[in-house]
Amino acid sequence: MSTQRVHNFYAGPATLPASALERAQRELLDFSGTGMSVMEISHRSKEYEAVHREAQALLRELLAIPENYHVLFLQGGASLQFAMVPMNLLGDGVKADYVLTDDWSKKAFQEAKRFGEVREAASSENTGFDRIPWQIDRDPEAAYVHLTSNNTLFGTQYQTFPDTGDVPLVADMSSDIGSRPFDLAPFGLIYAGAQKNLGPAGVTVVILRDDMLARCRDDVATMLSYATHAKHDSLYNTPPAFAIYMLRNVLDVMRQAGGLAEIARRNREKAALLYDAIDRHPDFYRGHAHLDSRSTMTVTFRLRQEELEGGFLAQAEEKGLVGLKGHRSVGGMRASLYNAMAIEGVQALVDHLERFAKKHG
Ligand SMILES: *Cc1c(COP(=O)(O)O)cnc(C)c1O
Repeated sequence: MSTQRVHNFYAGPATLPASALERAQRELLDFSGTGMSVMEISHRSKEYEAVHREAQALLRELLAIPENYHVLFLQGGASLQFAMVPMNLLGDGVKADYVLTDDWSKKAFQEAKRFGEVREAASSENTGFDRIPWQIDRDPEAAYVHLTSNNTLFGTQYQTFPDTGDVPLVADMSSDIGSRPFDLAPFGLIYAGAQKNLGPAGVTVVILRDDMLARCRDDVATMLSYATHAKHDSLYNTPPAFAIYMLRNVLDVMRQAGGLAEIARRNREKAALLYDAIDRHPDFYRGHAHLDSRSTMTVTFRLRQEELEGGFLAQAEEKGLVGLKGHRSVGGMRASLYNAMAIEGVQALVDHLERFAKKHG
């Protein structure tokens, strides 16, 4: 691209692969030989349907999603899933467990309280959400255990998922879906807003197992019912066609990059580069997450001298390192290292850390 691209560390919406954007630019006025953009064509056209199916197929291939799972493209963000999950799955005498690891999981928990009996099965709130609570007080009767795989505000991430026996896991994977391979078997339902690692805002990916779908209530409003969207292959009403088109472009780039094993290798390499820099200067920088819970996607850290943080951020911005200000609930810095963040961007950030520590340390 001829235009200047910065190193974008925003948590979401977030950096996307330049090649996926360039493809959209090339195809914008004439999508698939139609003489129209993908935003202007019927969602019932064969050209749009091909994109829809390709996005589903790529997601299945990349995440190794078996046949007994549905891949849905919904709207309303992960936030609507906070309600849709319990609305469809809970009810009289049907209970669920929630693991609280940041404000997002707390929101999911609060929302679920409207629809059934839900319980806090574990929480790391008393240590400032700095770790994954590995011990879960499980109810074997629960319909599901809800967790957040990557905690976008605090920078913690499950490295392995808890064993919940016969109780299915339901996971908000908004900020690490597509960052690494994982075994789907324990998961009954996964949801993710696309705007962190998969594409633009506007589409929410839901991966739903057959037996969970079979358990869904049938008295839910049509548009809020998983059954509607599963039955109509996410084409019950007009889908967010442009967002799904961009999702397709991003997934195609991920496949060309070698799939999730290779992407995970790069993500580990990038995260290690940054954590090593933080750890080299323990008197100057302080990582937020406990060592066993550090995220490869979301690196949170502070300066020991908090009054220097404004200067750190301003000078980073001058070097084209943007979006590093931490969430207000944690403060300090947050570097989101999603798939599309190149190692050169992380290296540029590490150079900034080194120079800043040398000058002020
Ligand atoms: C960003 C984020 C959300 C909120 O997503 P919306 O699409 O804005 O509703 C929820 N959960 C996690 C883990 C997130 O990172």
